[in-house]
Amino acid sequence: MERYRFSEQEQSFFESLQTPLAIFQLVNGQVVTLALSGGFCGLLGYKSREKAYAAMDEDTFTFVHPDDVARVANAVAKFMRDGGTLESIYRLKDRYGYRMVHAMGTHVFPAPGVRLAQVWYMDEGAYIEKGSGTQLNQALTNALHEESILKANFYDALTGLPNLSHFFDLAEIGRAGIRRRGEAPVFLYIDLNGMKYFNHKYSFAEGDRLLQAFAKLLSFTFGAESCGHVGADRFAVYTDEKGLEDKLEGLFEKVQTINGGNSLPIRCGIYPARLEDVTVSMAYDRAKIACDSLRKVDYSCFSYYSRELRDYVKKSQYIRANLDRAISENWIQVYYQPIVRAVNEKVCDVEALARWIDPEEGLLSPGDFIPVLEDAGLIYKLDLYVLEQVLEKIKRLTAAGLYAVPHSINLSRADFDACDIVEEISTRVDASGVARDRITIEITESVIGSDFDFMKEQVERFQKNGFPVWMDDFGSGYSSLDVLQSIKFDLIKFDMGFLRKLDEGGGKIILTELMKMATSLGVDTVCEGVETEEQARFLQEIGCSKLQGYYFSKPVSVREIIARRSTGHPLMPEDPRESGYYEAIGCVNLYDLAVIANTDENAFHHSFNTLPMGIVEVQGDSTRFVRCNQSYREFIRRYFGLDLSREGGAFTKYTTSFMGNIVKNCCERGVRTFYDEKMADGTVVHSFARKIGVSPVTGSIAVAVAVLSISEPSEDMSYEEIARALAADYYNIYVVDLETDRYIEYSSPAGTEELAVERHGEDFFEAARRDAHRIFEEDREAFFAAFSKEKILQALDQQGVFTSSYRLMDSGAPVFASMKLTRLKAGGKRIIIGVSVVDAQIK
Ligand code: C2E
Ligand code: MG
Ligand code: MG
Repeated sequence: MERYRFSEQEQSFFESLQTPLAIFQLVNGQVVTLALSGGFCGLLGYKSREKAYAAMDEDTFTFVHPDDVARVANAVAKFMRDGGTLESIYRLKDRYGYRMVHAMGTHVFPAPGVRLAQVWYMDEGAYIEKGSGTQLNQALTNALHEESILKANFYDALTGLPNLSHFFDLAEIGRAGIRRRGEAPVFLYIDLNGMKYFNHKYSFAEGDRLLQAFAKLLSFTFGAESCGHVGADRFAVYTDEKGLEDKLEGLFEKVQTINGGNSLPIRCGIYPARLEDVTVSMAYDRAKIACDSLRKVDYSCFSYYSRELRDYVKKSQYIRANLDRAISENWIQVYYQPIVRAVNEKVCDVEALARWIDPEEGLLSPGDFIPVLEDAGLIYKLDLYVLEQVLEKIKRLTAAGLYAVPHSINLSRADFDACDIVEEISTRVDASGVARDRITIEITESVIGSDFDFMKEQVERFQKNGFPVWMDDFGSGYSSLDVLQSIKFDLIKFDMGFLRKLDEGGGKIILTELMKMATSLGVDTVCEGVETEEQARFLQEIGCSKLQGYYFSKPVSVREIIARRSTGHPLMPEDPRESGYYEAIGCVNLYDLAVIANTDENAFHHSFNTLPMGIVEVQGDSTRFVRCNQSYREFIRRYFGLDLSREGGAFTKYTTSFMGNIVKNCCERGVRTFYDEKMADGTVVHSFARKIGVSPVTGSIAVAVAVLSISEPSEDMSYEEIARALAADYYNIYVVDLETDRYIEYSSPAGTEELAVERHGEDFFEAARRDAHRIFEEDREAFFAAFSKEKILQALDQQGVFTSSYRLMDSGAPVFASMKLTRLKAGGKRIIIGVSVVDAQIK
């Protein structure tokens, strides 16, 4: 609707009147001031008419006594919207205090379809407290108080809307009226979403302003007498069903702009009376149930009451009322689901999951009762009970001389609100005598998102107290990645949604990359919901450290666990002494060479970070593949014709000289080795191996192997090949890079036909000094006096060659040796050193 405009003549006529008069119009739900007479401006104490217009536009009730605002606003809203007349007595502020004003309004229709409200104000003199003043003044004061008291019993002082009981009365009458018109009545229950936080953030006064603005909006949308303010931030409405959803959409849009835009979204529950003809208060209750079902939504929305919702509410009430009994009568039981380590498929952890086995309702799953207990703020009772059951179980195992793997318990956000859960858990664990690291805390990702700083603090408190903390259901929410960056979890549990979507486009890639990221962050991983062997293999391959799911075992009761033990179930707990060893194997990131090379040289990173990498376990002269990446699998298949996915986990004798040599080299010579091997087709494989650990139980050695480069066979012989060919004639040959001091040593074990053994090392001169014991004691000082990098460079520059003779002690008795050293290429950075035994010649 357009704003109506008077002619200039009309406008100045109204404005010149000395009687207080104001003319208003309702334009798109807003009261607009069209004209104020001179008498009206004088009544408010305005000399300037512009200022008076501006003040009215800002807030029509600025000058009304605060105690009268709600009542007057309500009367005006009804008058403006529904027509009829206005008759109200109230207090209006002027320069000296308050005046009594008697407002009387009627409607005029200056043009077809245009309705204007004209309000005359009678100035009844200064407001004087009851008991004094003239008779007329007293009569008016009485009238004012009577009107206020009458209103106060039925209307809410803050918003001016009917209160709950008056709303019920009005709704009873209104509903009958709607039916008489042949329409269908509906009841709405409306809740401002986040009022508590709003008050906390902006003050209660600002909260009140928002409630008043919303009440105004609601009464303009549905009519003041159809709405009620039924408590704090909650409102009720009865109306007819026709066009309801459009009206609500309009309301959702407008609510964003009220109170200068400082507003909140709203939730609306709807009970259509056609479902069942119930009393007004029951209809109101059902609309509330529908509204409460939207508790987790944070935008404006509505929902209808349904039978399912009613059943849900009934069940919730049952659960809430019976929790204590369910605990004391053992209806609640703890089931346990094993978590297995990917590298040995032994049980390394157990998750405790609650079950409610109800004598009437049957088995209730956590999905039924956990959300109810969370909403009711009672979940802490259940979680502490689960903890106590777990502690009992661990104590029983320990008493029976059995080893207990760590048990994880699940916590909800509400646990942290109900009590100091960190303290409660720590106290109970300590009292039980169970070590703190036996209890793992699982917290779901969604819990973290809700109140980040607080939750970060709680996670850190748990960890400081010695409890590992896992992030549960990673990937099921939205905030995952930044959370991982800021909170250092001990483990990330991937949501089973990843496995369900594995075969959809990109599913495998996403999981692989996320797993890589977790490993790079140094965080352990579990994937839950493993149901098939194929999924288990895939997860092992991409480096997931632990697996959980029906493929291994469903959650089972203690009775079932005991039965399993006696029947020799294949799932066995891991030997605790081996946990560290297998953890170390699981930690190696097969996609990041820095972890295996343990060096921070950038060159490694940049050129080699998708190299074939694998971990083998060595036992005597047998090996088994424990983990490897895709390219390692491909490498082994191409060069050795082995299919690692079929190899299984069993130990077999070295099937390739490659494996045998590198592993032997690594195990015998120390922690890190480089190794080159020429394949049958002439290709040279340059690889690196690092010892990861030794099992304290079986003595198995875990070795990580990375293939650094594979060079194609070439016609031209490399220096290395020449050196290797000559090695048989020399006692030792070294090729040293004088820039980096890295070296390769070729030695031919005396009296064998074997190929030269090759060893790579880092700091040649340092290594030589470490080997000093190999030189006959009497020659040592003289040898090292001459054998320094500076002296060698000097000799090379002056004579092109450096020579030295000394006695070697390798065979126990001194033998004469001669060393000759020269550059591989004139001016080049690499030198070759030949050591030959010249004992016979000398002697
Ligand atoms: P959750 O912590 O993510 O637990 C894993 C859920 O996945 C369990 O469901 C488990 O039975 C199920 N599951 C495990 N492996 C598989 C599988 O291979 N396939 C399928 N389809 N499902 C599998 P459950 O026991 O129904 O628990 C559901 C959720 O309820 C839990 O999710 C946890 O968030 C919550 N919960 C359970 N017990 C408790 C408790 O004692 N306290 C709290 N606060 N929450 C609990
Ligand atoms: Mg869990
Ligand atoms: Mg989970």
